[in-house]
Amino acid sequence: MKITLNENADVVATVKAGLEKTGGYCPCRVEKTEDTKCMCKEFRDQIKDPDYEGYCHCMLYFKSLQD
Ligand code: SF4
Repeated sequence: MKITLNENADVVATVKAGLEKTGGYCPCRVEKTEDTKCMCKEFRDQIKDPDYEGYCHCMLYFKSLQD
């Protein structure tokens, strides 16, 4: 398993700019809680899920099942 940044640099730049504006909270969510702080709970749970492969909600990160 490995986590990488989206290969699309424009997406990475956009999401990172959003994270800077929110002070590190998920730019695609309204609530600011521990669960929405990047890496958010949703993605942490997806990392733990042995069957999940794909992007986090904002598409900043990609979880690959291969090393
Ligand atoms: S969806 Fe992705 S970018 Fe947004 S908080 Fe979760 S891990 Fe971070």
